[in-house]
Amino acid sequence: MTDDRPGPRRTPAELLRRLRLRHATDPVTHVERVPARAGESAPWPGWAPEDLRAAFARRGVVAPWRHQTEAAELAYAGQHVVVATGTASGKSLAYQLPALSTLLTDPRATVLYLAPTKALAADQLRAVAGLELDGVRPATYDGDTPRAEREWIRRHARFVLTNPDMLHHGILPGHAHWSGFLRRLAYVVVDECHTYRGVFGSHVAHVLRRLRRQCARFGRTPVFLLASATSGDPATAAGRLTGLPVTAVTEDTSPRGGVTFALWEPPLLPVGDATPEADLVSVRRSALRETADLLTDSVVEGVRTLAFVRSRRGAEVVAANARRALDEAVPGLGGRVAAYRAGYLREERRELERALLRGDLLGLASTNALELGVDLVGLDAVLICGWPGTRASLWQQAGRAGRGGEALAVLVARDDPLDTYLVHHPEALFGRPVEATVLDPANPYVLAPQLACAAHEAPLTPADLDLFGEGAKEAVDSLVEAGALRQRPTGWYWRHRERPEVDLRGEGGAPVCVVEESTGRLLGTVDGGSAHFLLHTGAVYLHQGVSYLVDALDLADGCALVHAEEPDWSTHARDVTSLSVVSVRSYTDAGPVGLFLGEVDVTSQVVSYQRRRIATGEVIDTRPLDLPARELRTVAVWFTLSPESLARAGVDAADVPGALHAAEHAAIGLLPLIATCDRWDIGGLSTALHPDTEAPTVFVYDGHPGGAGFAERAYGTAAAWLRATRDAIVECGCETGCPSCVQSPKCGNGNNPLAKPEAVQVLDVVLANLADGSSDGGVAGGPGVGGAADGPGAGGGVTSGAGRGGVLPRQDDRTARRSTAGGPTG
Ligand SMILES: [Zn+2]
Ligand SMILES: [Zn+2]
Repeated sequence: MTDDRPGPRRTPAELLRRLRLRHATDPVTHVERVPARAGESAPWPGWAPEDLRAAFARRGVVAPWRHQTEAAELAYAGQHVVVATGTASGKSLAYQLPALSTLLTDPRATVLYLAPTKALAADQLRAVAGLELDGVRPATYDGDTPRAEREWIRRHARFVLTNPDMLHHGILPGHAHWSGFLRRLAYVVVDECHTYRGVFGSHVAHVLRRLRRQCARFGRTPVFLLASATSGDPATAAGRLTGLPVTAVTEDTSPRGGVTFALWEPPLLPVGDATPEADLVSVRRSALRETADLLTDSVVEGVRTLAFVRSRRGAEVVAANARRALDEAVPGLGGRVAAYRAGYLREERRELERALLRGDLLGLASTNALELGVDLVGLDAVLICGWPGTRASLWQQAGRAGRGGEALAVLVARDDPLDTYLVHHPEALFGRPVEATVLDPANPYVLAPQLACAAHEAPLTPADLDLFGEGAKEAVDSLVEAGALRQRPTGWYWRHRERPEVDLRGEGGAPVCVVEESTGRLLGTVDGGSAHFLLHTGAVYLHQGVSYLVDALDLADGCALVHAEEPDWSTHARDVTSLSVVSVRSYTDAGPVGLFLGEVDVTSQVVSYQRRRIATGEVIDTRPLDLPARELRTVAVWFTLSPESLARAGVDAADVPGALHAAEHAAIGLLPLIATCDRWDIGGLSTALHPDTEAPTVFVYDGHPGGAGFAERAYGTAAAWLRATRDAIVECGCETGCPSCVQSPKCGNGNNPLAKPEAVQVLDVVLANLADGSSDGGVAGGPGVGGAADGPGAGGGVTSGAGRGGVLPRQDDRTARRSTAGGPTG
């Protein structure tokens, strides 16, 4: 193509009309018009120093948006506050305003800023340093900070940017060196606080309590300023995270362009086209292929388009397919599409941005890396290949288009129950409460090690038990019993010389080191619980976007030896699982149906893995593994049904195992709708007769020692959750079950048996009985949207069936992120 100008500019509606023409049946299930919004600004607070206003003005901020001043005023008045608004709504300014004002007016005050990643802290440092304010002295303090600089930072920096890991491993244990900083601490900024969820979030909650305790020793009570993506009930989540009463500011008053948002379901393939050897390969057109085609068509129309794909491989496949198709249409046109990779240098990113702005590039396929740190504006269309996990991410990605103009966004569904549900339930995406961030600071597996850390920092007193909250006394008693703490009249003392070894992000066993064999370089660590899935011999392991192949996993030495290689297949580990009930915490007796929440022991063993082609999902082979079994004590939600009720509903006894199994798969797939987990955080197991319940039973459990709050949330919202599960199955157009409804990409039983219509009957029985006054209480708004059907690979296959007849629990759907490379459906 010789003409370098972008083609004719189409309105979003025109473009969408053209895209829809590509299939005989209309793939669009819903079109939502999100209107443009005018911004609502507010005057600067009277207390904001002139220097600061001038600095913001130099950056182009003439006046803050109303929600920014609202949050800033609250914080400045001493209230803990969380700002939970959309992308690009200026959350940074909301916390910078009070924090920097205080630093400028009180020459002694200090501020601690926490980000979930080093990269984000570095971005934030650039932003604060760029304001060029006298005496603020911002500095990052993390694992990369040179020793030589650390002391200077501790003594002189007044705006310290770090992450929870560094706070936990470095600052709090070394609090004596930080006393000058902590005794003057005015604000603690917790950025992107929605990322602190599940077990990691529960750990961070206690790290913040430890920080509060150290400050309290100096009589200091810093104000917490939190920033969150849009989430359900952010005040409660922030309150759980900090242990403090927190006021939420949620109304977004920043301006926004209008978006035409289409939900797109790729058509089912004719039966003959599905690959026969794979039970799980999608029977729909893959979302990757569909996205590549849409990108091609958009570029042909001259529309600047960005496609978000979940994996790096997937992004490359989309870009390559689009380039090929474009070159076939018009030789040379393919050169106007590129793939964007995580790990690009700043300068490379800037060059891509410029090429897009100039119109040299018309199409870009990217991983989520673009969500952070790249400023692309002026795009006309965004294609989102697969549900990105949370509504916040969805809007973040869609928000890339149409700054200042009308834009088109298309969510292309993957072959997965959650994606399918969402494209058929637009009300769950648009104008509904968003998912809540779930964490459980009372988890004894988190609380005990955190109390050990606290005791190491300073002896625990009875008053501290209140600070650490529910379960703290029991945890302290267990530590005393285990010989970790000694009780004295003045409190509980850590008995050892060494610090307790606690990893905020890991759990269950010592971490396994990932070592590049040829160079001896340590690439990183994986927690012991996930190592069997991620680092088994033969696994494809992704580290910061680079692909490695595991040559050997040495559990005795705690290391995996790898070499860099980027094969065109991904690996998917399989396990066998059994489960026993330890105790029941809570239950609902609903006639023939019982609903339970309790503790369970799960035993599982990784027994094999599959290799699958990334582009097609085709199963190449299944290879055995020899790894030991592991035990997990965790929290589960389960329901039982009487065999009679199933018979009355018309479920044949022979179909009961398949019906329960199918219901369980779909239920796991839909749980992210009500809690911010993803399906790899939870496991499930179903059986026509469980020895502990003596009834047909479906279990869904947290895949983390001690639980992570997901099963608890499922129990509390059971009717809404199972109603969505039922609807997802009913509404799927397939006949006998597919990955969009009852098949699972990580089934330990090779998706066998599955009985789709009977699964609906099972859920109808449960819902009919539960609806009569049971545990659905307190579920505001039913399904919000949420979670993250992140399983990068779909498709699956068969491993050894462990079940003895239909009686034994069906091994299943374990946990941990076990697909190790980008999968066929993105
Ligand atoms: Zn289906
Ligand atoms: Zn299964």
